[in-house]
Amino acid sequence: MAAVEKCEPRTESSGSRTEPLIFEESVPGRRGVDVAGGAQSIARARDLIGSELCRADLPGFPEVSEPQALRHFLRLSQLNFGQALQFYPLGSCTMKYNPVLNDEMAALPGFANLHPFTPPDLAQGALALIARLEAILAELTGMDAVSLHPAAGAQGELTGLLMIRAWHDRQGRRRHKVIIPDTAHGTNPASCTLAGFSVVVAHSERRGYLKEADVRRLLNDDVAALMVTNPNTEGIFEPEISAIAAALHQCGAQLYLDGANLNALLGVAKPGDMGADVVQLNLHKTFSTPHGGGGPGAGPVAVRNHLAPFLPVPRVVQRADGSFELDHNRPDSIGRLRSFHGNFGMMVRAYAYMLAMGGDGLALASRVAILNANYVRRRLANRFPNASAEPTLHECVLTHDLEKRTGISTIDIAKRLLDFGIHPPTIYFPLTVPGALMIEPTETEDRATLDRFVSAMEQIYDEALSAPEIVKGAPHTLALGRVDEVKAARHPILRWNPART
Ligand SMILES: *Cc1c(COP(=O)(O)O)cnc(C)c1O
Repeated sequence: MAAVEKCEPRTESSGSRTEPLIFEESVPGRRGVDVAGGAQSIARARDLIGSELCRADLPGFPEVSEPQALRHFLRLSQLNFGQALQFYPLGSCTMKYNPVLNDEMAALPGFANLHPFTPPDLAQGALALIARLEAILAELTGMDAVSLHPAAGAQGELTGLLMIRAWHDRQGRRRHKVIIPDTAHGTNPASCTLAGFSVVVAHSERRGYLKEADVRRLLNDDVAALMVTNPNTEGIFEPEISAIAAALHQCGAQLYLDGANLNALLGVAKPGDMGADVVQLNLHKTFSTPHGGGGPGAGPVAVRNHLAPFLPVPRVVQRADGSFELDHNRPDSIGRLRSFHGNFGMMVRAYAYMLAMGGDGLALASRVAILNANYVRRRLANRFPNASAEPTLHECVLTHDLEKRTGISTIDIAKRLLDFGIHPPTIYFPLTVPGALMIEPTETEDRATLDRFVSAMEQIYDEALSAPEIVKGAPHTLALGRVDEVKAARHPILRWNPART
């Protein structure tokens, strides 16, 4: 938590507000900027909007000076947790450091101000960047062709599944089932449903990975594909993946590989070598822009040649003279998934990151990410054992016995971590692990940070046994205590109402 300067120390415990809120500072008639002819402007705006769309009364905005308004918003921004401020080991989200250079490259006026309707001949640099990024991603994944259109991992999943459906249709086959393991990310079954498939669950039992024999038992002429994340959401490499791919292909089905966890594989292993027919990547995880935070994403899909005709349009293609154009004329394409060519700023960031790292740098990043997760797993083993006996890759999924011993649950541990200035890991996911704590340190954290995290976790475990009320009541040091998450979900307040403040 970034320090906010105050004149008085905090005396109250959790839930107390120690900084004045903007509504409490309001003084009738106080103004920030005095717009020339203010009252007239408001009346004119009412005319333009139409009075039937305007509120009868002023909405009750606080009346404050400009510095007060500035301080209010700056203070709010500091109440937030962020990867740029704290350790943020949110498993499955790969919250690695995003070098500021990447943002600067995306903000270059030639990129940032390029209108999406600019004719291709005047946008050659941007098209070249798209083509080069596609080529690098094809190389990293061991696949034949890539589309950068999808705006998120989940949209990449939908794109891949629609292409698989189109490919089956083209061969006159009606296949309506997709097998998904019980460790899957929630977006996988959701994408299947959106693409018109029904889901068949494959159980990984307590092993944490899929057995070829179990997949074979589920295979028949109704199965269009198997969708599996590798390494999976327990941070485990699927050891039987190649045999599973062979079994699928033998039965005419496809292997969809969810590549959101590619941070474990860069320069080390390729989905194409595992037999994948389609794989989606999350640029906003693996290639340095952290997941979450409400910003845009990019979930490119990479395919083998037999699926390439179905890729979304338009495709960026290179003419004989080396220049680039957009090809809309692809009769087998599944069509457009979104406007224009995807979230271009994300592509610039990923491309800048790759060029800065180089091939060897990317491979080193994956190896260090794996080392860091294994370090945390090993150091916490006595109090928080790993859920599976299998080797850990980029993230470890830990469990604990505190619920049974003292009634302290995973959410209590997560809330207590906030008092240590650490963002909690992903919790209660994957669903196969009771009370899961899914920790992904990423390669960008040093040993001192990992040691600080480990000692916080150890202290919380010991507190849970000796003084459980401290853990139950956490967080104690933030501006707000625990919110009622159930109430927030069931009775959300989505509209600002001055009467409530
Ligand atoms: C993050 C993630 C997704 C979804 O990606 P979004 O960009 O959030 O849509 C899918 N699968 C796995 C394994 C993920 O970790």
